[in-house]
Amino acid sequence: MRVLIISDIHANLPALETVLADAQRRGFDEVWCLGDVVGYGPDPNGCVERLVALGPQLTINLAGNHDYAVLGKQINVEDFNPEAQRAVLWTRNQLTASSLAYLDTLPGEATRRGDFTLVHGSPRDPVWEYVLSARIARENFEETSDFICCLVGHTHVPTMFSYRIEQRDGQPIGRCTQHRLTPGPPDLRLMYDQARLIVNPGSVGQPRDHDPRASYVLLDIETRRWNYLRIEYPVEQTQHRMLAAGLPERLINRLSFGW
Ligand code: ZN
Repeated sequence: MRVLIISDIHANLPALETVLADAQRRGFDEVWCLGDVVGYGPDPNGCVERLVALGPQLTINLAGNHDYAVLGKQINVEDFNPEAQRAVLWTRNQLTASSLAYLDTLPGEATRRGDFTLVHGSPRDPVWEYVLSARIARENFEETSDFICCLVGHTHVPTMFSYRIEQRDGQPIGRCTQHRLTPGPPDLRLMYDQARLIVNPGSVGQPRDHDPRASYVLLDIETRRWNYLRIEYPVEQTQHRMLAAGLPERLINRLSFGW
């Protein structure tokens, strides 16, 4: 079974359409979305509708912190930086009743599919925590022992952390390593090598690794082949729509740089 893994769409419809079209050409059976369908971008309803149109193929869609924020769930928008706050308030005004009702159904807790655990944030804090460093990843591996491979979003940075127990001077010691993802088809063989993994597929709609191309992954569940892909989309279409919507300039500009 081939799974399309996407995260952090952030109401960027041209990016979502481009990723879906590219993935459809390559073929997939299911879609797992790791949260933040809306926030920042100009097409919150369009993105919700596009995901809903996937029907039963979309087997997992998690709530992200921005989805929660527009719903007023578990957060004050004051916790966001001023530009994100403006985008949240703008998004809240744009969403139709049916989009709001749909976002309200998205689960905020860790979800399991076979050997895979899925969260938006981190294993120990599924909506809010950013796994940005090996130190934070390590704490998660050690505090949350019930996952083998956890797929995370939230940071918008494609990356992988592995963790394994090694013997040092007769003592078991945990070792956490961060691995750079490079486009192409590596695999998750580390999972067969007794390492546990935290993997981030990057962001569809607002990449933050200095590469403006949309980021996504196709995963073959049986073979564990993990195909990490980047694809150009018409960034200026999204930017034009953001400008017309009066969204903050910095949020518009950052899409050009992937930061
Ligand atoms: Zn996000």
